[in-house]
Amino acid sequence: VLEPDLPAFLSSVEGVVGATHVLTDPEVRAGHETDWTRRFVGRTPAVLRPGSVGEVQALVLLARRHQVSLVPQGGNTGLVGGATPLGGEVVLDLRRLDDLGPVDGPAGQVTVGAGVTLTALQDHAASAGLSFAVDLGARDTATVGGLVATNAGGLHVVRFGSMRAQVLGVEAVLGTGEVVRSNLTGLVKDNTGYDLPGLLCGSEGTLGVITSARVRLVPGVGPLLGALVGFASVTAAVEALPVLRSAPGLRALELMRAVDLRLVAGHLGIEPPLTPLPPAVVLLELEGPNDLVGALGAVLEALGPAVVASAVADGDRLAGLWRWREALPEVAAALGIVHKADVSLPVGALAAFEAAVETTIRAHSPSSTTLVYGHLGDGNLHVNVVGPGAADDGPVDAVLELVLELGGSVSAEHGVGRAKVAWAARQRGEVATTMLRAIKQALDPDGILNPGVVVG
Ligand SMILES: Cc1cc2nc3c(=O)[nH]c(=O)nc-3n(C[C@H](O)[C@H](O)[C@H](O)COP(=O)(O)OP(=O)(O)OC[C@H]3O[C@@H](n4cnc5c(N)ncnc54)[C@H](O)[C@@H]3O)c2cc1C
Repeated sequence: VLEPDLPAFLSSVEGVVGATHVLTDPEVRAGHETDWTRRFVGRTPAVLRPGSVGEVQALVLLARRHQVSLVPQGGNTGLVGGATPLGGEVVLDLRRLDDLGPVDGPAGQVTVGAGVTLTALQDHAASAGLSFAVDLGARDTATVGGLVATNAGGLHVVRFGSMRAQVLGVEAVLGTGEVVRSNLTGLVKDNTGYDLPGLLCGSEGTLGVITSARVRLVPGVGPLLGALVGFASVTAAVEALPVLRSAPGLRALELMRAVDLRLVAGHLGIEPPLTPLPPAVVLLELEGPNDLVGALGAVLEALGPAVVASAVADGDRLAGLWRWREALPEVAAALGIVHKADVSLPVGALAAFEAAVETTIRAHSPSSTTLVYGHLGDGNLHVNVVGPGAADDGPVDAVLELVLELGGSVSAEHGVGRAKVAWAARQRGEVATTMLRAIKQALDPDGILNPGVVVG
């Protein structure tokens, strides 16, 4: 058995990436050692910034030779501690892999580097009259590598599916040090065996370091119409789902609660978006070319008295509606260290979950503040608890227990990271966990990539 030899590893890495891309200054390292929620704080001896797939491969081979563990990191916006060097690992910052390949218009595809930000990918697609289907609040910082590695969801899953549905091909350096290139020509149909790009989606840096991805693009965004639709309760909003989901051109269906919107109003120093503010507010976004006003009118009419208030916006005013939804995670973070439960539930259990969740949390942490919002169209709620100390898992554990009782998932879109390993194992069962371990062993036999993440 080889012993880890960090000094030997560190003395070799400058020869691969150059001295300017080996960061050891404590102040520079600090931003890579703490996650966005500030709940996960690790320590790293160095942050390495490779600039090509060849450099990534050389670093992984060196790490293997010297038995040094690596944590791949993109924008560091992940919310489950998956990119935090909690065990003193070396951080691989992949943001220099920022090539934007030419948009293949006829195919509606593009190949981009893992370090490209979501905003840069969206802008690149838009410059060719197309768009990229995934969008989320951390768009300016989150990278393609991170989005693939976490199989990110976001605001338009109800229309286009999550990241896995967009990724056709992947290039990655496996834990063995080999480079895999799978379907980089972007074949839409390729049934030659196991779906390797799909396997790397959601692998959270545990199987390979993603260096680039071939993604599908969708038609450029048409005219948009947004609406806030108020309901007397979350139960009423959930009961309205069949009608809401049938709205023509639907591309977002988000849930917010009055109690949380009041916190946003206080934070932003503005009046709530509806007066009086109904207990549950759904943000609906529709995309043309249909008669959107007519389509929305038909939806509201079909819902009848279930709708207790509404506000409609298009053009520049649409961003004002989205501000309410996108400010919710910011407000939670401004209140203190955030404990996050990103869960999904069968539609039939959503209202029961929302009704029980605050009581469940208060039983463990009576003075905590809880914010609940999420992607209603996907059955995905984000429960944010502020108040308990960074190491106090009690309230979130109680929430996840409730989720499993109701047949849901302990991670809808943020991944397992280091935060949800035991819970994910419980949810998927022994046979599936053994399968995951076998895959990890095959692709990363020395366990040098993101140890402790996903399968523990
Ligand atoms: C305000 C806010 C809103 C958000 N909204 C959403 C949302 O709506 N939906 C959603 O799904 N997520 C959301 N997120 C979470 C986050 O943005 C996503 O998980 C995103 O995919 C992370 O990308 P990243 O580049 O920041 O990855 P990081 O945080 O750097 O890493 C995340 C994971 O991916 C691995 N990783 C990163 N790059 C690579 C690579 N090149 N190769 C292999 N592994 C890699 C890391 O090791 C880690 O396990 C939000 C976060 C914030 C802060």
